[in-house]
Amino acid sequence: MINSLRKLLKKLGIGALATGKKLAEEAKGTKKIHRIIAVANQKGGVGKTTTAINLAAYLAMMGNKVLLIDMDPQANSTIGLGIRKDDVSDSIADILVDKAKIKDVILPTKINGLSLIPASVHLADAEIKLVGMNFRETILKNSIHNLTRDYDFVLIDCPPSLGLLALNALTAADSVVIPVQCEYFALEGLGEFMNVVSLIQERVNPGLEIDGILLTMHQEKTKHVNQILKDIRKLYGGNVYTSVIPRDEKFPESSSFGKPIGLYDPDSDGARAYEKFTHEFLGQ
Ligand code: ADP
Ligand code: MG
Repeated sequence: MINSLRKLLKKLGIGALATGKKLAEEAKGTKKIHRIIAVANQKGGVGKTTTAINLAAYLAMMGNKVLLIDMDPQANSTIGLGIRKDDVSDSIADILVDKAKIKDVILPTKINGLSLIPASVHLADAEIKLVGMNFRETILKNSIHNLTRDYDFVLIDCPPSLGLLALNALTAADSVVIPVQCEYFALEGLGEFMNVVSLIQERVNPGLEIDGILLTMHQEKTKHVNQILKDIRKLYGGNVYTSVIPRDEKFPESSSFGKPIGLYDPDSDGARAYEKFTHEFLGQ
């Protein structure tokens, strides 16, 4: 995977930034309020969309103005927020390739203070079209630049791949939240993704910070899973959130009803875990 990103960066003519590491260090500790956060991991099914939807929803329920951008052609964030594919006329794809006005693409959601830029199946075509465009890795960054004044937080739900869509998201982002499923192969995929973050910092986005690694779908009763948790904390220490999201069947259920878990079942274990995580994310 990281080799595919390396190849992509090479094709785009993007070399190492001499000052990359230094700028990244300087950027640390200056957390902006008007932040763009990518929720990313090249693995599928680790809880990216669930984290993007529920972090966005709790941030909004706590009084922030939040925008969620669905950058996955599968449109799971869009559907999970109750917006039907058929109801989407313009999507993030139109912003990336057709220069649609971003304000025309923003939709309201059932949560006060939470807006959405939806995805559509056209996003897969858009990724192919991007290859032939100038400044293709900075198109999202340039399109949403002015929006950050209007929102406290802009979240980007990334696709499970390392192509131009993920590259655009990680180039636009100030920081990244990395959901990791508590399972046997978690460590392997995580090491690879951390290399990706370093590569992005070196080549395109020196200010990109790691917000943290969020452990998801935890099942306490499984013994080897607890060992994996220990190993991840040992290796990535300060970068791992204290909050852990438990496995809770209410998540797929709430998505099928088009609601964040905080609306669907606020007293469930899963809802309480994301609420707690949101406080931790905010440094509270
Ligand atoms: P990704 O976006 O990384 O592909 P998703 O957030 O879509 O992952 O999660 C994959 C599947 O697992 C979805 O069906 C989702 O509802 C479910 N899921 C996510 N988090 C949990 C959890 N904590 N407990 C149970 N199911 C979960
Ligand atoms: Mg997803």
